[in-house]
Amino acid sequence: MEKIRLGRTEMMVTKLGFGGIPIQRVSEEEAIAVVHKCLELGINYLDTANGYTTSEERIGKAIKGKRKGLFLSTKSLARNREDVEKHLKLSLERLGTDYIDLYQLHNVSDAKALETVIDPNGPRAVVEDAKRAGLVKHIGITCHQIDIAKDAVKTDLFETVMFPLNFMSYEGRDELLSLCRQHDVGFIAMKPLAGGMIDNAAIAVKYLLQFPDVVLIPGIERVPEIEEIARIFKGPKEMTAGEKQEMERIRQELGTRFCRRCDYCQPCTAGIPISDIMSFPNLAKRLPLVRLYTGKFAEAFVKALECTDCGECEERCPYNLPIREMMQEHVKMHQAGKLEYEKQLASR
Ligand code: SF4
Ligand code: SF4
Repeated sequence: MEKIRLGRTEMMVTKLGFGGIPIQRVSEEEAIAVVHKCLELGINYLDTANGYTTSEERIGKAIKGKRKGLFLSTKSLARNREDVEKHLKLSLERLGTDYIDLYQLHNVSDAKALETVIDPNGPRAVVEDAKRAGLVKHIGITCHQIDIAKDAVKTDLFETVMFPLNFMSYEGRDELLSLCRQHDVGFIAMKPLAGGMIDNAAIAVKYLLQFPDVVLIPGIERVPEIEEIARIFKGPKEMTAGEKQEMERIRQELGTRFCRRCDYCQPCTAGIPISDIMSFPNLAKRLPLVRLYTGKFAEAFVKALECTDCGECEERCPYNLPIREMMQEHVKMHQAGKLEYEKQLASR
């Protein structure tokens, strides 16, 4: 499996990494089998997060006795010192390791959040202390907003940036990637298959193979998925003329209905977390049912019912998405899924 240098971390990691979100959805046995298959294929980069429920623990069980040579990356959404400390400790325990290769401040989504995480007494400082103590080797950031990602790179406080990159969302491929190169920051492409919206893995992977210094971490749920992607890596890297045509066709088809989670549509006058509602079909493919139908998401869908139809969000969406129409569809999908989920719970 091809390895590349991950920016200033100086670490050599496999260009194909493993994204650990979807293994929350399967049984523990299946999750461990997926991680074992990744190791067997020579993948050394495993990514997870404190927020991905069982993911860290399952990866920890799968890599027991096999830690050497792996590049373990995890993250924390916390925005205060105490919680970052708690998350870091938990990650070490769950992963069964005495150090984490890359610890990332997760989903830093606006200027205020960036300011908070880089405060000299804030979350990044906790990770810096952990780095001095040998518990963390490198510090990164993950983000969906291009301006915030660029600002984060310019601070020179992060060794890597994780940002969405695929042939549907390619905002990061120009200025952000070139900034990363200038600052020697490793670029990790999240959502290489657009969070499951792109069914054609060959085209999605080949699109990204044009960037020699970018690591891809597709979220993997089952063994055949990672086997298929690993096969694509071994085959011809260039897209055929037919594949290029197909990519354009998919772009046309999804282009008018695909939310990039950029949040340019905010602020919603009713306080609705629009991108969560808009991404529902996507998230429904990756997240466990308990995450979709209880807690934060369930609350977001209740909030969505307060839409006043003002249309301001649509004026701001750079992709001209019919937000109100799509939100209504997704609310119906969510209600039907929730009913089904509750029936399942009741029959247990
Ligand atoms: S149309 Fe609805 S979702 Fe859009 S800004 Fe207005 S209240 Fe918010
Ligand atoms: S609806 Fe449009 S503006 Fe809002 S997050 Fe999605 S793509 Fe971005």
